[in-house]
Amino acid sequence: MSIVVVGTVAFDSIDTIHGSYHNVLGGSATHFALAASFFTRPQLVSVVGDDFPEDFMETLQSRDLDLDGLEVKKGKTFRWHGRYHADMNQRDTLDTQLGLYGDYSPVLPEAYRQTDCVFLANGLPAMQSAVLDQVESPKLVFLDTMNLWIDTALDDLKAVLKRVDGVVLNDSEAQQLTGLHNTIAAAHKLHDFGPRFVVVKKGEHGALATHDGQTFVLPAFPTDAVIDPTGAGDTFAGGMLGSLVRDGLDQLDFTKLRRAVAYGVVMGSFNVEGVTFTRLMTLTRSEIDHRLREFANIIDIPF
Ligand code: AMP
Repeated sequence: MSIVVVGTVAFDSIDTIHGSYHNVLGGSATHFALAASFFTRPQLVSVVGDDFPEDFMETLQSRDLDLDGLEVKKGKTFRWHGRYHADMNQRDTLDTQLGLYGDYSPVLPEAYRQTDCVFLANGLPAMQSAVLDQVESPKLVFLDTMNLWIDTALDDLKAVLKRVDGVVLNDSEAQQLTGLHNTIAAAHKLHDFGPRFVVVKKGEHGALATHDGQTFVLPAFPTDAVIDPTGAGDTFAGGMLGSLVRDGLDQLDFTKLRRAVAYGVVMGSFNVEGVTFTRLMTLTRSEIDHRLREFANIIDIPF
């Protein structure tokens, strides 16, 4: 079973206190797909321009990804520039250039349309809806979004939220979308927008999941080797959805969701240990499972 992921494949420029990285490969769909590829073979849907370098394409091709849905067109690839504060939980977006992505209307390859699972990674809400129009009867659809789209495309975002099973977003976005300043209250309120699963990422403070009146919280995996958090949220989502697909989407219950959130936290913790996704390029499945076990031991609560 696979996951169709639609989102950005991008040039990123990143400033951190450890260094600056100019025009590196990034994008919400890139980070998600690389993480999910440890669990399944993701089918990537996006668009890049004729400025997209051959070595970026080779990096994507070097992983177990289905790239039939990645279009290369004449024009400019999506670009994003972010700057992290000394407190790496804080980041400012300095520039976003949509390029071809601005009026991208994805056409899913025939083989993707029967997928059981769709991840609408951070991107234009209208484009996220256009993808849902093309999939036949997915068992699980999750969506991510960010402040740019809450600010500029709120109606489209609300419309697509009504069509998804789950939403995964960070705490400030949950608060902005609901107008509530308490993250727990915001998570519960998000169900009113449509999704039955709500997952809120809280950076170094971990994640929170709510479903059917139940609440689950996890801290982040404790690591002090934080080099670059770019893509950690998408990597979290890739681990989470990857785990759900691997566990099977029938009888999707809160136990499966809790395990999936734990895999998400673990994958996110690997991501922050290198610039963009570099740590994932050397990561092995056994390291992932080893860290999950270590994590389970760390949070064991005697009572
Ligand atoms: P994260 O750190 O998980 O929020 O993801 C950062 C990645 O998302 C970067 O690689 C960016 O290229 C990409 N990105 C940033 N802003 C947007 C946006 N507005 N829409 C889609 N992707 C974005």
